[in-house]
Amino acid sequence: MQKIAVVGTGYVGLVTGTCLSDFGLETICVDIDETKIKRLKEGHIPIYEPGLEEMVTRNIQYRRLEFTTDIQSAVEQAEVIFIAVGTPAREDGSADLKYVLTVAEQIARSMNGYKVIVNKSTVPVGTGQKVKEVVQQVLDETGKSFEFDVVSNPEFLREGNALHDFTHPDKVVVGTESQRAKDIMKQVYRVLYLNETPFIFTNIETAEMIKYANNAFLAVKISFINEIANLCEKVGANVQQLAQAIGKDGRIGSKFLHAGPGYGGSCFPKDTLALAHIGQAYDSPMRLVETTIEVNERQKLNMVEKIETAYEGGLAGRKLAILGLTFKPKTDDMRDAPSLTIIRELEKRGVSFRVYDPAGMEEGRWRLEGVRGIEFCTDEYSAMEGCDGVVIVTEWHQFRNLDLKRVQELLVSPNFFDLRNIYDKAEMANQGFAYYGVGV
Ligand code: NAD
Repeated sequence: MQKIAVVGTGYVGLVTGTCLSDFGLETICVDIDETKIKRLKEGHIPIYEPGLEEMVTRNIQYRRLEFTTDIQSAVEQAEVIFIAVGTPAREDGSADLKYVLTVAEQIARSMNGYKVIVNKSTVPVGTGQKVKEVVQQVLDETGKSFEFDVVSNPEFLREGNALHDFTHPDKVVVGTESQRAKDIMKQVYRVLYLNETPFIFTNIETAEMIKYANNAFLAVKISFINEIANLCEKVGANVQQLAQAIGKDGRIGSKFLHAGPGYGGSCFPKDTLALAHIGQAYDSPMRLVETTIEVNERQKLNMVEKIETAYEGGLAGRKLAILGLTFKPKTDDMRDAPSLTIIRELEKRGVSFRVYDPAGMEEGRWRLEGVRGIEFCTDEYSAMEGCDGVVIVTEWHQFRNLDLKRVQELLVSPNFFDLRNIYDKAEMANQGFAYYGVGV
C-alpha cells in the first residue's frame, strides 16, 4: 500500500497518523505549524495524551512515521490523504470550513495521480461535495486531469483514551460513493477490518450526519441527567442512585449519565451548535439540540449559584481552591471547559483563586490570563492553603482520594463543592465538611 498523508497534526491528526503507522503503514503527518513539526521530529509531543509519546517514538524509529510542513511532497508520495484540521464554531454557531477547504485546495495543487481524499474533521453535511468541487475547480484551472475520490471518515475518539479508541473503535464509518475508494479504505483499516470491527459504509452525507448525531445524542444525555439532578436536589432525591437504576435499563445504558457542571471540550459545544445551525439552514429545526445547548450553558451558572448561596454575605473577598481546569481528566484540552465560565463568573462576584490541574496548567495560564487574583499552584494541597472552600471541577484520579484531614487543616472554612460527585455526601458531612454535590 502506498503512503498515507495526514494533514493537521492536532489531537485527531496526530493520533490518526501515529496509529496508522503503528498498524504498519508508512505515514506522513503534515502541519502548517513549523514549531509543532520541529518539536515532533525531536520526539516532543505537543499535547497530553497517555501513551502517545511512546507510540510516536517507536514509529519514528521504525521509519514508518514522518513529520513535515511540506504538504506538496506529502501529497505527491501518498495515495490516501486524510484531512484532520480544525472546524471551530463561527460567531453564528456554524462550523468554519476555511481550514478544510484550504487543505482541499492545497491537495489539489499538489496532485500527481489518483488520490483518495478522506475527511476526518467533523464537518456539516454537504462538505464532502464542497471538497469535491474545490478540488475539481483547481484541477480545471491548472489544466490537470487526475482522478480522485472523496471519503467521509468521521472520528469518534475521546481525548485521554485516544489511542485505545482509535485502535479498538466501536465502529468505523466510511462514507463514499466510489467502490475504488471503499476498497482502499478497507486496506487502510485492514488491521481493524480483519479484527471484526463493525464497518459502516454509507454515502458521504450519511457519514457526515452520523458524527453530529452521535455527539448531539451524548450531549442531550448529559443535559438530561443534569436537569434531573437539579430537580433531585430540590425534592430530596439522589441523582447518582437514580442514574444507576435507569442506566441498568439496556435501552438507556449507564454511560453519560453523570451529573456535573455541564459538558465542555473541543467537540460537544461546537458540534451541537453546528447541528442546530444546519437544522435552521434546512428549515428542520433541531429543537432538542437547541434546548440542550441552553441547558448546558445554564448548568455552568447553576454551579456558580450553588457556590454563591453557600456563603452568607456573598462571595466578595472569598478565596477558592479550584481543582481541575481541563474539560475532563487525562487531557490538557481546555477548549470550552466549564472551568472557564465558572471561574470568570465567580471572578465577577469578587472571588480570588488558587488553582491546580495535573495537565492543564500551561493551557490554563493563557486561557485565564487577566483573571483577578488567580494563583497557579504546584499541587492540589497547596491550592487549598488558606482558602474559603474547594471546588472540584474536573474528576482527575488524584482528586478522588484526598487526605481529608489535611484538607480540613488547609481550608479556612470546610466548604467542599464536588461538581463531579466523586465523594459521598454522608461521609463528607461526618468528616465535618459542608458538602455540596450535584443532585445529591
Ligand atoms: P486541533 O486544533 O488540535 O488540530 C488542528 C491542526 O491542524 C493544528 O495543528 C493546525 O496547525 C493544523 N492546520 C490548520 N490548517 C492547516 C493546514 N492548512 N495545513 C496543515 N495543517 C493545518 O484540532 P483537533 O482537536 O485535532 O480536531 C480536528 C477535527 O477533528 C475537528 O473537526 C474536530 O471536531 C474533529 N474531532 C476532534 C476530536 C477531539 O477529541 N479533539 C474528536 C473527534 C473529532
